[in-house]
Amino acid sequence: MAIPIPSRMLFIDGEWREPVNKKRITIINPSTEEIIGDIPAATAEDVDIAVNAARRALSRNKGRDWASASGAHRAKYLRAIAAKITERKSELAKLEAIDCGKPLDEAAWDMDDVAGCFEYYADLAEALDAKQKAPVSLPMQTFKCHILKEPIGVVGLITPWNYPLLMAAWKVAPALAAGCTAILKPSELASVTCLELAEACREVGLPPGVLNILTGLGPEAGAPLASHPHVDKIAFTGSTATGSKVMSAAAQTTKPVTLELGGKSPILVFDDVDLDKAAEWTLFGCFWTNGQICSATSRLLVQESIATEFVDRLVKWTKNIKISDPMEEGCRLGPVVSAGQYEKVMQFISTAKREGATILCGGDRPQHLKKGYFVEPTIITDVTTSMQIWREEVFGPVLSVKTFSTEDEAIELANNTHYGLGAAVLSEDLERCERVTKALEAGIVWVNCSQPCFCQAPWGGNKRSGFGRELGEWGLDNYLSLKQVTQYTSNEPWGWYPSPEKPKL
Ligand code: NDP
Repeated sequence: MAIPIPSRMLFIDGEWREPVNKKRITIINPSTEEIIGDIPAATAEDVDIAVNAARRALSRNKGRDWASASGAHRAKYLRAIAAKITERKSELAKLEAIDCGKPLDEAAWDMDDVAGCFEYYADLAEALDAKQKAPVSLPMQTFKCHILKEPIGVVGLITPWNYPLLMAAWKVAPALAAGCTAILKPSELASVTCLELAEACREVGLPPGVLNILTGLGPEAGAPLASHPHVDKIAFTGSTATGSKVMSAAAQTTKPVTLELGGKSPILVFDDVDLDKAAEWTLFGCFWTNGQICSATSRLLVQESIATEFVDRLVKWTKNIKISDPMEEGCRLGPVVSAGQYEKVMQFISTAKREGATILCGGDRPQHLKKGYFVEPTIITDVTTSMQIWREEVFGPVLSVKTFSTEDEAIELANNTHYGLGAAVLSEDLERCERVTKALEAGIVWVNCSQPCFCQAPWGGNKRSGFGRELGEWGLDNYLSLKQVTQYTSNEPWGWYPSPEKPKL
């Protein structure tokens, strides 16, 4: 049954508003290639209106504005938003499945994570009240000092299409918990559920201007947000190329940025693993979310002694994956998000072939699916470290395989990349796992698994995968500014300058 896409406008200052230029962007279902609706296309003028609304919301009614309200007050709204998401979970999951091609079971899982993220940051907002005025011990008795944790101000949040509502939640929930007001710019390719987040905010009576949601094209809506002089911080998730542009734009007004960028993460499989368990995690690590995961462990390093048997098993498991319309029961791999992404992934595969790699399985459109941007889950061997497929992020269901003989060689191959987001090590020897974990250059290391993510633990990368950490208490710190308050407590004058009234005898 067709799911109607709600027709929405921009969400600014607590209201639905038409974009100034009245333009809209069509939405295409990546499984059917059909137009299924449209979203408003914001431009710089709309960004300006939204930023002004967010600034007013920060300090609207003296003493009762969002920034100076208690964490407990803000937490009530976050919990109400979580409840709305849970109430509409099934509908939101379907919308996400037809908007970006995510298998329905995954999308439903994401909705639980979205609600969980709002709940988690509601807890941290409440705890923030008790953490105010934390004392700092000083070496001089005549002074005392404490710290105030204050919201950074108006923040711009720019998100990608692979986890449309979840990536928004990772930023919106901590920003609002901290007392910031925000402008969210989701990806033009998957904005539908973010506009439903706006509806949830409206329904729970979130004060006007606290969260503004502007859909639109990156260069037309994202760029003016990143460079806006009255935005105090930018949090961005997306490609390394765009992240670099966002950082340059933010530098014009010296605003801080948090960047969660791309990756080319390794998975190291040692010869003492349980082959079936390791095979499943290896596939999950790369094909989950149709392979469109920043942290996908898409470079498999397998120990020589088990390589043939392990790769055979991977191929058998891969051929068993159900590829279908995401709405079909049991679907485990849907289409990639767009025609452009489909072309990009196919280009990667053909370049790999041209450069001499071997396609062990997949590499094409599935025979039974004539329409939609479907790519078979693909495993590639005979790969060298100089090949594009080994070096660059594909953002599609493509796993490249290399072998190693020693632990040192595995680590060297794993770290030989510009990226540093995730990594996984699979071995029954936990001492080895610990050694390897320490040696891996990555912000996240999974041991005997790949990809599980919890909103309590920090998330983010090193090198060209960006900097700063989202989630956990670190995610809240992203949106807080520390104010040092130092008080002189002595009854005696400071005594540095001689007093004109009391000349020294
Ligand atoms: P993009 O970098 O293309 O886009 C990310 C966001 O930036 C979108 O909202 C996009 O809008 C916007 N944007 C585009 N151009 C500009 C600009 N000049 N100024 C400001 N904003 C702009 O990434 P994708 O959406 O294609 O997402 C895929 C990438 O995201 C992958 O490389 C992946 O690794 C990374 N990613 C990283 C994650 C992490 O946690 N590290 C998590 C998820 C994804 P529009 O879409 O309208 O162009």
